[in-house]
Amino acid sequence: MSINRMIPDESPRPALRLCEPSEICDNEAARPPAPGHGRGGLSVPAQPEWDTPVQFVKGVGPKRAEALAAEGIHTAGDLLLYAPFRYEDRAAFRRIAELQEGETACIFGRIIASASRSTARVRMKLFELVVRDDSAAVDVIFFNQPYLRNVFHDGQYVVLFGRAERDTYTRSFRLQLRNPEYEIVADDEDRTIHVGRVVPVYRKLGPLTGRQLRALLHPVAAGMAAAPDPLPEALAARLGLCSRLAALREIHSPVVDAAEPAARAAALAALNAGASPAHRRMIFEEFFLLQTGLQFMHQGRRRVAKPHRIAVTDAIRDTVRQALPFKPTAAQKRVIKEIVADMTSPWPMHRLLQGDVGSGKTIVAAQAILVAAGNGCQAALMAPTEILAEQHHAVLTRLLAHTGYAVELLTSSRPAAEKEAALRRIAAGETPVVVGTHAVIQKDVDFRRLALAIIDEQHRFGVRQRAELMRKGQNPDILVMTATPIPRTLALTVYGDLSLSVIDEMPAGRVPVRTLLLEGERDLPKAYDIIRREIAAGNQAFVIYPLIEESEKVDLKHALAAHRRLSEDVFPGVRVGLLHGRLPEAERMAVMEAFRRGEVRVLVSTTVIEVGVDIPDATVMMVEHAERFGLSQLHQLRGRIGRSTKPGWCLLVAHDCKTDEARRRLDVMVQTTDGFRIAEEDLAIRGPGEVSGTRQSGVLNFRFGSLIHHRELLELARVEAAAFVARAMAEPAGAEMALLQRIRRDWADRFGLVLVG
Ligand code: ADP
Ligand code: MG
Repeated sequence: MSINRMIPDESPRPALRLCEPSEICDNEAARPPAPGHGRGGLSVPAQPEWDTPVQFVKGVGPKRAEALAAEGIHTAGDLLLYAPFRYEDRAAFRRIAELQEGETACIFGRIIASASRSTARVRMKLFELVVRDDSAAVDVIFFNQPYLRNVFHDGQYVVLFGRAERDTYTRSFRLQLRNPEYEIVADDEDRTIHVGRVVPVYRKLGPLTGRQLRALLHPVAAGMAAAPDPLPEALAARLGLCSRLAALREIHSPVVDAAEPAARAAALAALNAGASPAHRRMIFEEFFLLQTGLQFMHQGRRRVAKPHRIAVTDAIRDTVRQALPFKPTAAQKRVIKEIVADMTSPWPMHRLLQGDVGSGKTIVAAQAILVAAGNGCQAALMAPTEILAEQHHAVLTRLLAHTGYAVELLTSSRPAAEKEAALRRIAAGETPVVVGTHAVIQKDVDFRRLALAIIDEQHRFGVRQRAELMRKGQNPDILVMTATPIPRTLALTVYGDLSLSVIDEMPAGRVPVRTLLLEGERDLPKAYDIIRREIAAGNQAFVIYPLIEESEKVDLKHALAAHRRLSEDVFPGVRVGLLHGRLPEAERMAVMEAFRRGEVRVLVSTTVIEVGVDIPDATVMMVEHAERFGLSQLHQLRGRIGRSTKPGWCLLVAHDCKTDEARRRLDVMVQTTDGFRIAEEDLAIRGPGEVSGTRQSGVLNFRFGSLIHHRELLELARVEAAAFVARAMAEPAGAEMALLQRIRRDWADRFGLVLVG
């Protein structure tokens, strides 16, 4: 179907051109100077080359170039690496008469009426359009965007992209488009750019609208004569990857020749899924470059030997045996073997220990610590919260009591004099074992012989902190532990430089926790009954209140009020403790200790106990306002119970479930206790940056690829990168090494944060 067919019949046929108001009066766009007359003596070709400063790209100019620089775009080539996020088939619009309820479609038509109004029922300002093509008309509703009155005018031609839904507000039940994306098209439009073909749709970039980007990029992609290609040639040839330039051209100006609707739809779907050959090539490149950096670090570590040699003597074996309070699981035995093999090798260990909440990582860490200390070295264990650091300190002190090794606690809330004395002992090498929070990596901490550095709950730290801890020793062995199972794709990327050990088995006798979703006030009595029953059976309960930074005070008040209510009205005669981050250290430790000893039966707490806390007799985890928590948080909280052979209850109380997303999270929690499934769901809901805590660093903000949708390409890139790096390193003077060094240099900025240390 041609574009012309879609033009309403009664109108003169517009030749299509963009006419966004801001564009019409845009006199800022600089023209590139004529060849040979470049600014500042630069000779600028009429067709930009890859390295041409972006300012000289037609339609950019100095002011926009400045704004683009802030987005990391400096050259014409950088601009080409800005990928569209979606494609629309604007050569074959959906006819309005054929719109189906629930479908997402792209239509093209003329505005025949527009109006603003307010609704009493939903108390919103509505702006409405009626748009028709040659088949029918459709209502278009925008919520709370009254300024659109000045954007749309009757008679204009518009492209609309959105979901067709029934009008349930006025109960007319007619199909309508709600808050669609729109593009206004005008009379003397250049037909090759914005309509009449499959067009790329870009997100706004700095000052440039998606439409302006399309206008800019189309000629740049078509006119660029060459692009530097970072992929090894032989590799690209073997994998059948097209050239980078061809790929970028296709991405910005895809050619879809097929006339048949099904074939067009398939081509469009492939483009939108990043599954076209051009996309796959760019995605592979992106993943390959990152994996090359990670592999270089991983394999490069084998070159620098540790200053301390670690050996496992019979005496050490004995102390380890005596320290174990129970029989380790087969999985625990296997991972400790892997860890000890690393520790006794000449090369530093860089290992990720992954095991779901409650799988018993602490005892594995304790064994590794004993091996280091038994060799006269120091070991450090870093945890994300003071409460967890305090718990680890208590546990290790107990486990190591028979050895005589001192265990030092370093947290920021320890009194200065105590802390100074501790620092002196650590620097002198008198303290073999140091447990602490971020305090461990502060400047004032100096180890004498740090040989083993362990990070618990690694996902709560950044890569940078891992590097800082590493620098406290000379090539120390590094073990990072995480209880949040990370989907494999993500682990490969964020922790791609680490070896992996997995505890895939729970200690014997564990019973899965039962999870109930409860509705607000109505169901509270039910929750309290369960708690009462468990207390009567000699067990204990957590009751968690959310503490969100913006409203910390208010939330704290809720926790305090709840504590009073629970201890006075709901559970009279039962000792109810209160725990939150504002309590002084001594008080906090006293409450935890009383809960641990079973004197406090119900612990009202904020999320300070979210990770790591281990109270085997606690069998109830009640979470108030569960809708406010993220999936991994809920999983961690639930992980506080079910840590013994007693059955546990997780009571998720929802008070104000506003979004579908919150509902979905709670449903997932009810459906499964499998940490891996929860992690996958979390990844799907929140995206990789949030899940791995690397959002700020931008490491996972791939331009073309997605860790969710392109896993098999990531796997392929990892395998290829590992082989490439191994070959390059085998021949330090060879061509592959030169290429590897160039990749590292060119990409250090982008992936720097992952590639620290
Ligand atoms: P996590 O992996 O979440 O850090 P912990 O190390 O805190 O788990 O262990 C959870 C609980 O399981 C603790 O109470 C611990 O003492 C217990 N535990 C660990 N390993 C075993 C085992 N092999 N047999 C019995 N109990 C174990
Ligand atoms: Mg733990």
